[in-house]
Amino acid sequence: MMRSSPPLPMRAAMPHPHLSAIADLVTGYVNGFDRACAQFGLDVQTLETLLLDANVEACPGCDWYVDSHELLGEGDAPDGHCDNCRPS
Ligand SMILES: [Zn+2]
Repeated sequence: MMRSSPPLPMRAAMPHPHLSAIADLVTGYVNGFDRACAQFGLDVQTLETLLLDANVEACPGCDWYVDSHELLGEGDAPDGHCDNCRPS
């Protein structure tokens, strides 16, 4: 009788097959982090690692997850905040 093979340990070096979908979810909703955890069955630690791989970081001003490059500002001094927090 065939048994299914045991689950392989998560390798941090391997990109998650749904990484871009996960990143879209996390950056698209204010509670996207929780949504992604639930939808893809991830724990907080795993999801945070995946987001770093996808260059997604939390804005220190509002905790919204955005692409890392958004936190760099637009040419001038990097302010480390997302577009919503940046004074216009
Ligand atoms: Zn922000």
